[in-house]
Amino acid sequence: MTRMTDDLLPALKRHFGFDRFRPGQEAVVRDALAGRDLLAIMPTGGGKSLCFQLPALLQEGVMVVVSPLIALMQDQVRLLEDNGIAATFLNSTLGGIEAAQRIQALRRGEIRLLYLAPERLLSPGFVDSFLQPLQETVGISAFTIDEAHCVSEWGHDFRPEYRQLSRLREWFPDVPVLAFTATATQRVREDIARQLALRDPALHVASFNRPNLYYAVKPRSGRAFDELLGHIRYNKGSGIVYCLSRKRVDEIASDLQAEGVSALPYHAGLDAETRRENQDRYIRDDVQVMVATVAFGMGINKPDVRWVVHYDLPKTMEGYYQEAGRAGRDGEPASCILYFGMGDIRTAEFLIAQKVHPQTGDPLEDEQRIARQQLRQVLDYADSSECRRAVQLRYFGEPHPGQCGNCDNCLNPRPLQDWTLEARQMLSAVARLAQRRQRYGASTVIDILRGARTEKLVSSGLDSLSVYGIGSARSQEDWRALARSLLQQGLMEETHDGYPVLLLNAASWEVLKGERSVRMAAPAAVPKAAGRG
Ligand code: ADP
Ligand code: ZN
Repeated sequence: MTRMTDDLLPALKRHFGFDRFRPGQEAVVRDALAGRDLLAIMPTGGGKSLCFQLPALLQEGVMVVVSPLIALMQDQVRLLEDNGIAATFLNSTLGGIEAAQRIQALRRGEIRLLYLAPERLLSPGFVDSFLQPLQETVGISAFTIDEAHCVSEWGHDFRPEYRQLSRLREWFPDVPVLAFTATATQRVREDIARQLALRDPALHVASFNRPNLYYAVKPRSGRAFDELLGHIRYNKGSGIVYCLSRKRVDEIASDLQAEGVSALPYHAGLDAETRRENQDRYIRDDVQVMVATVAFGMGINKPDVRWVVHYDLPKTMEGYYQEAGRAGRDGEPASCILYFGMGDIRTAEFLIAQKVHPQTGDPLEDEQRIARQQLRQVLDYADSSECRRAVQLRYFGEPHPGQCGNCDNCLNPRPLQDWTLEARQMLSAVARLAQRRQRYGASTVIDILRGARTEKLVSSGLDSLSVYGIGSARSQEDWRALARSLLQQGLMEETHDGYPVLLLNAASWEVLKGERSVRMAAPAAVPKAAGRG
């Protein structure tokens, strides 16, 4: 083992100029050199490229790297060439002559790493007439599948063409497959191993903690835009503002420009030329701020992004982690701010309800259920008074003691308030409904507590319940915060019955019987109180 390290360090220095491995890298390199299949899960910025690039240089044959993004490929090949490493890519941007030259160089065994888009690899005849002969002559040291989560429908970026990559195993039974991703959930992990038909893969999971990132959640008030401006002026360096819709991106970008901020938009609605130009200008530091949808980011190699702002609520925790993680890849301090207002919840719920079958108009129940579950996780994060890092890492199944000292909740703990009375009111409402064998979700329970005169309540006689209207003094937002807090604290349960349904558990009864008090942090969002201006 030690001998290998001794062997590896000079190579690391010689080829990449680094003195030591980052955590986790060496073990991956070693397994790759041993010819094992492997699945390596490393956070963005963790240095995964090196884990297959170094083995490529230390083994016979060419390493074939399958990568979904042309921009990413070109970037990596350029970086490798700058280090004097023979790498090339084949994709649709190349002219016929250029492609033919590269193929010749590959056949002569002059290339160590070949980057391919999956479409290219799977295009008719490519394997038969090029890759298999290459394997027989020059040899293929391994297939690296970068961004391997794209094979999984459970990932945040499913690409159907990635599914076909399972055929690599049939075509090249003896060539190891190395799968890399920054996506960490257990489900995606298992899916990758199955879809790619990995053989007894060595599993490497690096820590997802990014200690240099500061995390904070801010209530979106009517002044959120002014705050954003203040943030940009105070933080100076390069940043990304993520928004949910293209329209919003365009608006915020032009509002920022009107305030003299050097900002550009990026979303899938812009033509390819504009997108490339905006991206290049951002990477060159020609422009300070990129206002973007989630279409921006994957594979964009800009290590010195100093801050990421989510101006709208992200759809999933995974997505949030990845997008926020584009900050500070150079290891220097960077900040990740999430704006959160109650209106975001309504927007998110509205968007979820729109997930319907295109022909029949029936709700896509599975998709809606998954989306609601994901929304809940995001809300739990946004609402939490716990260490942000601990909440995020728990989501990835990684324990963290909390008290990171580098998030808003650790630096400015929110005071806890006594909400026992309100908690009892809410739980009694759920209990009353249960007595009547009626099952409802939080929105109806809150409507009952607030004494709303909706058609649904009146027609089902819910306005005659004794708890009807007892909570009218509190806003709907407060009640929602309480419902989430009760669920988070395990003082109430929720199941899904086609729609979410609230239920009591043993702990709820302790609260109802007065055996237990309920505390929660002051609700974070203050949408109405703070007006514009
Ligand atoms: P990702 O895992 O996001 O693909 P990269 O492979 O692009 O990350 O690496 C992120 C940055 O870390 C790059 O700038 C890379 O040069 C640098 N890096 C990787 N390994 C090391 C190392 N052992 N020592 C120092 N810097 C490293
Ligand atoms: Zn913390």
